[in-house]
Amino acid sequence: MTDAGAKIARLIRNVPDFPKPGIQFKDITPLLGSPAGFKVALSAMMDGMPEGIDVVAGIESRGFLFGTPIAMALGCGFVPVRKPGKLPSAVYEETFDLEYGTSTLAIHVDALKPGQRVLVVDDLLASGGTIVAAADLIRRAGAIPYHVSVLIELAELPGRAFLAEHGLTSVTSVLSC
Ligand code: AMP
Repeated sequence: MTDAGAKIARLIRNVPDFPKPGIQFKDITPLLGSPAGFKVALSAMMDGMPEGIDVVAGIESRGFLFGTPIAMALGCGFVPVRKPGKLPSAVYEETFDLEYGTSTLAIHVDALKPGQRVLVVDDLLASGGTIVAAADLIRRAGAIPYHVSVLIELAELPGRAFLAEHGLTSVTSVLSC
């Protein structure tokens, strides 16, 4: 594990059986409450990122917390990928399976320009369904899901392989656990 990964691991609280029995929830609130830890996390999430990102897309809601400061640091705009019923204008929607249940995500149809290279940001990669749905929305909006950056990857789940099956091979995580 990298130094950044070890520092971040100390600031992630494992909450057993939340929100359902059998789920080990990775609570990032101690990390968010630590200015030094949050700074390390953001910087590590930008390590290994390819050149040429045009836009950052963050997934509601914890992807917003990491995606917006990363967009500012890169000098890019930010596009929210939101839960249904939240975006006010015309949207594309995708429904998908989660580690616990199903969900739907939406993006404004005019959020992206054709060919833009998009960095997809979320807090955690589990089964990969959330990020694949976000990538599908980005493609439907005409842009390219170019790189995926997450803080935490649940290594016992095949999320990374699921992403690869859906054409997402440029993927980095800071903490694999
Ligand atoms: P998945 O689509 O299975 O990769 O799930 C990833 C999404 O669900 C992310 O947006 C996470 O915030 C959330 N999530 C899934 N599993 C967990 C977990 N064990 N702890 C915290 N968040 C989780």
